[in-house]
Amino acid sequence: MYKVGITGGIGSGKTTACKVFEILGIPVFYADAVAKEIMCKDVLLVAGIKSAFGEESYFADGKLNNKHIAGIVFNNEEALAKLNALVHPAVFRAFDAWEETTPKTVPYTLKEAALLFESGSYKMCDATVLVTAPYEMKLKRVMQRDSVSAEQVKARMDKQFSDEEKSKLAGHFIVNDEQQSIIGQVLTLHQQFLKAAEALKL
Ligand code: ATP
Repeated sequence: MYKVGITGGIGSGKTTACKVFEILGIPVFYADAVAKEIMCKDVLLVAGIKSAFGEESYFADGKLNNKHIAGIVFNNEEALAKLNALVHPAVFRAFDAWEETTPKTVPYTLKEAALLFESGSYKMCDATVLVTAPYEMKLKRVMQRDSVSAEQVKARMDKQFSDEEKSKLAGHFIVNDEQQSIIGQVLTLHQQFLKAAEALKL
């Protein structure tokens, strides 16, 4: 099936854009939410995390000890790479399983992932979309949405590729600067993806 990957920096509005695609009947796989879920449920992944970061990575009730993991991977690129090497393949497997369950009548699927380019998962997509917004706007949106400080948002932003780096890899763009209609841009892309998905079948 034709696969579209969608990404964007924190607060760019990628989830908001995905909600519009969903209204158009396109199923969306939310990779970041799935990653959180499978870190507690995927037996292989849980075993891998315990082996790499210790039994204390999980509480007795099976919940992930976020503080323990964050303490290890924070500012430790090697440990973060090790965690990603465990989580990313598990998310790819979850995506494949999810896609198997989507009705065959669906024209294409959408995969929303904050680290679409960083994780390399864009290589498995037929098309990619980068959602962008001005820096100050993203900062303000996330501060409001998550009730956090500018410093906390900036620390999260610093961990991602810049929009400039992502633009080099993206095939399509949505500019979510509250000047241009996000709905109009999604509708235009939707028409393009419908045509491309149809062409793939021929
Ligand atoms: P994250 O990576 O942090 O999950 P995101 O890229 O998925 O962020 P959203 O959650 O879609 O971003 O948007 C961030 C916040 O900004 C949300 O509260 C959303 O309602 C708001 N927002 C997004 N786009 C717009 C817009 N065009 N106009 C007004 N508010 C917007």
